[in-house]
Amino acid sequence: MKIYNTLTRKKEEFIPLESGKVKMYVCGPTVYNFIHIGNARPMVVFDTVRRYFEYKGYEVNYVSNFTDVDDKIIKKAVEEGVESSVISKRYIEECKKDMKALNVKSATKHPLATEEIDGMLEMIKNLIEKDFAYAKEDGTVYFRTRKFKEYGKLSHKNLDDLQTGHRQIQVSGKEDKDDELDFVLWKPKKEGEPFWESPWCEGRPGWHIECSVMAKKYLGDEIDIHAGGEDLIFPHHENEIAQSEAANGKLFARYWMHNAFLNIDNVKMSKSAGNFFTVREISERYDLQVIRFFMLSAHYRSPLNFSASLVEASKNGLDRIITAYKNIEYLLENLDGTKTEMTEQERKIWDKTQEYVQKFEQAMEDDFNTADAISAIFELVKYSNTNISSENSKEYLEALKERFIQLSDILGITLKKEKESLEQEVEALIEERQQARKAKNFQRADEIRNQLQQMGILLEDTREGVKWKRI
Ligand code: AMP
Ligand code: ZN
Repeated sequence: MKIYNTLTRKKEEFIPLESGKVKMYVCGPTVYNFIHIGNARPMVVFDTVRRYFEYKGYEVNYVSNFTDVDDKIIKKAVEEGVESSVISKRYIEECKKDMKALNVKSATKHPLATEEIDGMLEMIKNLIEKDFAYAKEDGTVYFRTRKFKEYGKLSHKNLDDLQTGHRQIQVSGKEDKDDELDFVLWKPKKEGEPFWESPWCEGRPGWHIECSVMAKKYLGDEIDIHAGGEDLIFPHHENEIAQSEAANGKLFARYWMHNAFLNIDNVKMSKSAGNFFTVREISERYDLQVIRFFMLSAHYRSPLNFSASLVEASKNGLDRIITAYKNIEYLLENLDGTKTEMTEQERKIWDKTQEYVQKFEQAMEDDFNTADAISAIFELVKYSNTNISSENSKEYLEALKERFIQLSDILGITLKKEKESLEQEVEALIEERQQARKAKNFQRADEIRNQLQQMGILLEDTREGVKWKRI
């Protein structure tokens, strides 16, 4: 499997730190408003990367944070006259709803910056001990950028270019630091802001330190993949590398993946520019499954322009897949019951579908080229449409249907009817409950019964086994 690594600017073979496992960290949103569809691009893209790894049998430890302490959150809290935690909690919940609607799986862990302050204090102390950081009289702590010799290795910037850029900022600012390239690890509170005790002052962390600390805590000093939008390469990810590698003395992340922007009229969609649509707004106009499909219709490193006509084209594409799938379902529902097993001839046709799976996999293994992977599904659609009829066997049609589900699932596109997925989920839970009872784990068995009840499912233990019905 090849991944384009921003660090080396090359496509490289993916070799995990630990065989069969992937440790992955994706920078999450700052929660002060509903997320816009630009923010949704990294969520959808890296969720698809995760799903592909899982399909290949890897165990993925996927960590993605919420930045819940930040100037913009504080500003919004002041405007509404509430604590900043009210704002962040509200938008974390809303963000989770949008992620679910986009079929983005929950991370293994979604840490919150405000719950990880101890780890941040520890890393900052460690950096001060190693002289990679220093505290000023007012309690601000800075990272000593020039001391980290590899600074700039991710963004491929050299220190001299950076220096000119930073000098302009410094002239207008009031910062008192040893060197203009140094960046903040800890800063003193301002009136009315949330703050934490620290050895230097009552204050709060800088943005970059939170990701270094959360990645370390939940994934370890070394991780396989670190990802986010390309605007994070500099300074955020460059600074994360400097902090983590200086503190831990190890290479932080092996592969750095960055998605290109979602644009409107070829300009980056962003809250500050005001040219954005929230996921929530868009969900009133389009099925979010169409939006997910639209996002995957381009390679993640190519800019993607959001326009009604392009989304419409994606909708038509997705409809072709759904129609092919529904045609198989229709035949299955109308079988006369005589042909159950796959014939020799059907077997041959079925075997050929493997070629589309291979094409799909080849595309995904080439730096997650979802655009080509979708083309492979379209080829399968054509093939399926010309190779099904009411003469087919149940086994053949079911196998073909599974092919569609298998490939669509990797992209996070759900073809199965809601009813069908519910039935499968219920049956899996009933089976788990039976196992728990056999193992005399009655607590777990009761838990499952309650969970099912909450889903509106009532269990009846009958002589013929467990039966269920909707309440
Ligand atoms: P933020 O809340 O601004 O920190 O952004 C959260 C994530 O969304 C980061 O990974 C950003 O790089 C990404 N992001 C923000 N705007 C866009 C955009 N227009 N297109 C793609 N990714 C974006
Ligand atoms: Zn980050």
